[in-house]
Amino acid sequence: MLGRDTILSSLDSFRFPEVVQEHSRFRNPIAKYRLNRNNNCIACGKCVEICPYGVHIMRRGQVFVENHYLCVGNDCTEPCVEACPEHALSMLKNPDFDSIGDLRWTPDLLASTWYMAEFAVSPPAGLEYKRGASGGGFDKLRLVFKSPKTIQKELQDKEVDVSVVLNRRNDNAHRVRIQVPFYGGGMSYGSVSITTMLSRIKAAAALGTFCCTGEGGYPDELKPYDDHVITQVATGLFGVREETIQRVKIVEFKYAQGAKPGLGGHLLGDKVTPGVARMREAVVGYPLFSPFPFHSVYSVEDHKKHVDWIKAINPKALVAVKVSTPTDVDMVAVGSYYAGAHIIHLDGSYGGTGAAPDIAKKNIAMPIEYAVPKVHRFLKEEGVRGRITVIASGGIRTPHDVAKVIALGADAVCTGTADLVALECIRCHNCESGRGCARGIATTDAELMDLIDLEWGAQRIVNMFLAWRRELIQILKKLGMKSLPELVGRTDCLVHLDHMKESV
Ligand code: SF4
Ligand code: SF4
Repeated sequence: MLGRDTILSSLDSFRFPEVVQEHSRFRNPIAKYRLNRNNNCIACGKCVEICPYGVHIMRRGQVFVENHYLCVGNDCTEPCVEACPEHALSMLKNPDFDSIGDLRWTPDLLASTWYMAEFAVSPPAGLEYKRGASGGGFDKLRLVFKSPKTIQKELQDKEVDVSVVLNRRNDNAHRVRIQVPFYGGGMSYGSVSITTMLSRIKAAAALGTFCCTGEGGYPDELKPYDDHVITQVATGLFGVREETIQRVKIVEFKYAQGAKPGLGGHLLGDKVTPGVARMREAVVGYPLFSPFPFHSVYSVEDHKKHVDWIKAINPKALVAVKVSTPTDVDMVAVGSYYAGAHIIHLDGSYGGTGAAPDIAKKNIAMPIEYAVPKVHRFLKEEGVRGRITVIASGGIRTPHDVAKVIALGADAVCTGTADLVALECIRCHNCESGRGCARGIATTDAELMDLIDLEWGAQRIVNMFLAWRRELIQILKKLGMKSLPELVGRTDCLVHLDHMKESV
């Protein structure tokens, strides 16, 4: 585990964790393609030999399809189906594949994230891993790369800096640099299992970044990771304790949530187990609501009192302010800066687990891709952009989304659903029903929680983010840049598909 000083150390001395391949915890991972082998097979081994992806194996003189999920389908350059001398192989698209996910988290995006969580690299072919199919948001934006001649081929990956400084006020608070441009967004103890929570936090510690507790309190199991935990103060004040605020480097006020602006949190009674109830000082089995808004905050002056309270308890703590994206979000951001915040966290509406109601997600507040440039511009006009960190969240699914939102004006991003997908979430939207997630991710049921091993979970998330980091470095190189700050606010590196049609 990383110590207190390590996070503050220079880039040179930080060592990213090793990649350890972590296979799916299910015997047959969901595959895009299915290969069938008929009785004509003479076990000649040709398919085993030519498949570059390890789909077929030979065992005791017989050939099997061991890994359907590694087949890249029509993208294969040496198709075994054609090479088979006995015409024994056929390939079909798996009809079940299209039943998972949705337009934002397409089956391809889910499967490619699982691939990254297993191998720590982007999938070689066969899966669209850069964007979804929502027809809007980041899916309608494209990065505009320089011509191949100007790509910095001679630049080593290790020379490209994707770390981000979080304290730009240069005050007495901690000097914190995260080694990757993302940290884990709040998911409360109760909404997800303690194993899911610990997997995310352990991964954040290994990657030199942070993860937020969400609003359900600070379980004792998190103590070893204090230096990488962001503790959240939200409207329900569940589990908020001055003792835990004193232990951490970052405290987040959650004023609103992009997936349900204007609505508070809601934890169904089924998920309020004895452990959750103890942490939240509530009654077992009763649903818990956190109100909207903070009933003590109706102005920037009220907000400043909140910030001052944290600074009085823990003068070294960075204060982050999480808000949704109303049309006056730019004023909110500037107000937060003057109230003393270090980080303004803009949470857009594309995110949220399966628990967020669609009516709220789809109809309230501004899309994040409009909010970020608005805030970036206004902070610049006010002359304070360089003194506050802008974090964007809400539907960041890929490293390409990260690059796009930074080009729009953010400094870094928060993730949430992507972490769950690394743990094999299938976006079934049942997070809040009954005992919770059947895959053991968003649940407090003791039996379901056991479906995930902590070491496996942490490594899967580490692997996924190592793949993201690697991909981001390639994106920066293709843009002719050596560090992320060069990309902040560079909307000229983006094109919107609607405008592309006009110009092409
Ligand atoms: S190439 Fe065809 S015949 Fe040979 S092992 Fe593969 S499926 Fe069987
Ligand atoms: S219930 Fe589990 S698998 Fe389904 S969307 Fe929620 S976290 Fe993902």
